[in-house]
Amino acid sequence: MSRPAKITIDLSALRHNLQQVRKMAPSSHVLAMVKSNAYGHGIERIALALEDADAFGVACLEEGLQLRHAGVSKPIVLMEGLFDAHELPKIQAQDFALVIHEAHQVELLEQHPSMSPLSVWLKIDTGMHRLGFQPEEAAQIYQRLMKCDAVKKPIGLMTHFAEADSVNRTHTLGQINLFNEATTGLEGPRSLANSAGIIAWPSAHADWIRPGIMLYGASPLSGHRGVEHHLLPVMILSSELIAIHHLKKGSRVGYGGTWTCPEDMTVGVVGIGYGDGYPRHVNNGAPVLVNDKPCPLVGRVSMDMLTVDLRTQPQAKVGDSVLLWGPGLPVEVVAEHSETTAYELLTRITQRVRVAVKDDHPVNVD
Ligand SMILES: *Cc1c(COP(=O)(O)O)cnc(C)c1O
Repeated sequence: MSRPAKITIDLSALRHNLQQVRKMAPSSHVLAMVKSNAYGHGIERIALALEDADAFGVACLEEGLQLRHAGVSKPIVLMEGLFDAHELPKIQAQDFALVIHEAHQVELLEQHPSMSPLSVWLKIDTGMHRLGFQPEEAAQIYQRLMKCDAVKKPIGLMTHFAEADSVNRTHTLGQINLFNEATTGLEGPRSLANSAGIIAWPSAHADWIRPGIMLYGASPLSGHRGVEHHLLPVMILSSELIAIHHLKKGSRVGYGGTWTCPEDMTVGVVGIGYGDGYPRHVNNGAPVLVNDKPCPLVGRVSMDMLTVDLRTQPQAKVGDSVLLWGPGLPVEVVAEHSETTAYELLTRITQRVRVAVKDDHPVNVD
């Protein structure tokens, strides 16, 4: 028997989520975000399964090349543009589109006028203060790009929301207004919305939406769950019970003995730990599903194992199934119990975890 820790990637759920995205923003093109190994789901399999996306967004050249090697022929956007001139030949050969957010990138394009023209998105910083030109510089940079022979026309116009997921609605509204002002009179497709923007800001759908986390089934809105937006979890993290112990009252469990049995009881050992990407800092009491029933996690998570309170199922045995997140236990819940986000949990599953792919339901067209 091999080690039972595994992720199952449900491609039918993925396609369903893309359909939901399209229903929410029916007039927008979809730039599906598959950076960081498709949020931990496997960039190649995810992009190949998303036949219905219009384009893919990645963080860097290497991720774009991975997609091309896998046979993806749709447009691919490098969301941070180029880092230096050495990347230009490959960017050209693979016809990658670039987000241009820094003056040095404009200069690099101006220094290579004889290149065959590249598609670009001009990124405007409307309040995130991470990447992009200030709104008052936007028109001038736009004109420089218009004059640049290495740039294909029309030029795209893009911004990114900092707080679309929170209740602070004025901030996002301010970003939308600033973007609209800064781009008045400039021709070209527009893109503002990430997942939170798609769900909470219909007025910002514009020409291209950029869904990431919602494609993978998690809610971008804090305190919410993917199911509330009719999304299905794409990653199922599971393992099995690898040992069962009947412990006496007062026994301390795990490293540091941080949890003590309040009575004589059954404790199960699950074959998964932080070395697989399960969060080490999860709270005592966080739910784990053993045979589809919730059991609280007890004691510290170790590298390869964690322990659960089996008082509600004393009949559980070695080999029984354990679900860490997936249908019935949203990754958002585990994130809340470990003071992080679904984004981080999904993205940091490690290499040694086995991967299975599930693709059993035909695409539901309604
Ligand atoms: C990652 C990313 C997205 C997707 O964000 P989600 O919150 O996962 O939907 C959209 N736009 C940009 C620029 C990004 O970097």
